[in-house]
Amino acid sequence: MHTFDLIVIGTGPAGEKAAVKAAYFGYKVAIVEKEKIFGGAMVVTGTLPSKTLKETALFISGKYEKGIYGVERTLSHKATVEDFMFRRKQVTASAAVEIEENLKRHGVSIFKGAAHFEDPHTLSVGGEKLSGKYILIATGSYPYHPPTIPFDNSRVHDSDTILQIERIPSSLCIVGAGVIGCEYATIFAAMGTKVYLVNDKEHILPFIDHEVSSDLVTQMHASGIEILFNNSIETITAPQGADIQIHLKNGENLSVDMFLFAAGRSGQIQELGCEQLGLNLGKRGQILVDATYRTNIPHIYAVGDVIGFPALASTSMDQGRVAVAHIFQTQDLEHLPSHFPYGIYTIPEVSMVGVTEEEAKTRHLSYCTGKARYADMARGKILGAKSGFLKLVFSRDELRILGVHIIGHIASELIHYGVMLVEEKKNLQDLIGQVFNFPSLHDLYKYAAYDGLSNFTGHKVKP
Ligand SMILES: Cc1cc2nc3c(=O)[nH]c(=O)nc-3n(C[C@H](O)[C@H](O)[C@H](O)COP(=O)(O)OP(=O)(O)OC[C@H]3O[C@@H](n4cnc5c(N)ncnc54)[C@H](O)[C@@H]3O)c2cc1C
Repeated sequence: MHTFDLIVIGTGPAGEKAAVKAAYFGYKVAIVEKEKIFGGAMVVTGTLPSKTLKETALFISGKYEKGIYGVERTLSHKATVEDFMFRRKQVTASAAVEIEENLKRHGVSIFKGAAHFEDPHTLSVGGEKLSGKYILIATGSYPYHPPTIPFDNSRVHDSDTILQIERIPSSLCIVGAGVIGCEYATIFAAMGTKVYLVNDKEHILPFIDHEVSSDLVTQMHASGIEILFNNSIETITAPQGADIQIHLKNGENLSVDMFLFAAGRSGQIQELGCEQLGLNLGKRGQILVDATYRTNIPHIYAVGDVIGFPALASTSMDQGRVAVAHIFQTQDLEHLPSHFPYGIYTIPEVSMVGVTEEEAKTRHLSYCTGKARYADMARGKILGAKSGFLKLVFSRDELRILGVHIIGHIASELIHYGVMLVEEKKNLQDLIGQVFNFPSLHDLYKYAAYDGLSNFTGHKVKP
């Protein structure tokens, strides 16, 4: 029997960061991973692969450059699926190696195999037994499979298997207009695939500001994506060697080359034996925890996708660190900051922090907004931006910035200044008092603040 202060299950972002932090503080730590490749969904099937495919699709399609330089870039041959997946494979391989090396550098003992609870302090991994004073579950999530979808067909995919396609589909129906569905819709559309996005609601990405989601819809339509709002699938048949036939709730039929189901994930707890242990679980296999990520069994903690919302790599990493701080009472962060950004790597990117205009209305906040367009900024003109904007939502009483919403080039990078503004309760005057590089896209913040002030005072110089 091997004994440890902490055993972490899973080498995704939540598990890796937790394990190295505990080891850094001198604790004896083990980590268990059941897959050959380290890094979980962040490295193998989710964050990095999809973001790399987005960059590849942008490069191959030349989407932003077209028409700006007066030169059409042509590839030496028609892009194949190997071209499309080439960088993705490189990025995954190098990130996975880096994670394993980071764990080793910190002196974390690595065990390969699926972990299963023998009792509340003991795990079996293959033939070995590990005993932990504390155990941290960071086993992530897996794509939900409704029984009506024929996933056994090689052209019917979830967000994991879409990475194994052997050719770029001529047409693709995606179910689910959440982050994953919208990202893949824009990626495949850029690669020349005819995309249908089936959405059972009246908005895509319903949690983002509706002005931003409407703009994204406009740009998705311009890319040839058909969004079927307030609709869902009644039946789907996938005959061998022929197009997939989809019958929709509104009576329409679709005939497509491939299908991607991107609506929901469940907690990956199947191999753990949580039920026998008496761990409290949610509806989709999520492990229930308190604000310190402790489960109902006091020495067992859980972090990352396996606890459900927000299920992001970014927040998972910090949950791992915060849980370790609580387990060993280290003198740092007690909780995640109250405001964290959402990055949606569609083409174009969307990113947000804080209160949306819809939320401000629902909460009866006295608010006002200000907006600046990429095309009006000097840097935007240099980049040839034709669309995209940054919107501030601020309070009328103190002009305090409550939310920042961006759609356009590198929105997921630009948002971090907004996170600081919201988290540190800055107001429009604080923002206007800052000096930014010129020309830079950060000017969007300043001009949105000026626009906000003029909306607030009613003294508008520009329509
Ligand atoms: C297509 C897609 C795109 C995404 N894009 C983004 C994005 O842009 N930004 C962002 O922040 N997030 C994104 N995410 C979400 C992000 O990938 C996850 O939130 C993150 O990976 C969760 O980390 P985790 O450590 O909790 O779990 P995971 O990364 O899933 O890792 C869990 C690990 O545990 C292992 N494991 C499971 N059970 C056992 C067991 N019994 N024994 C041993 N090992 C086990 C698994 O093999 C896996 O390696 C995306 C996800 C997907 C699917």
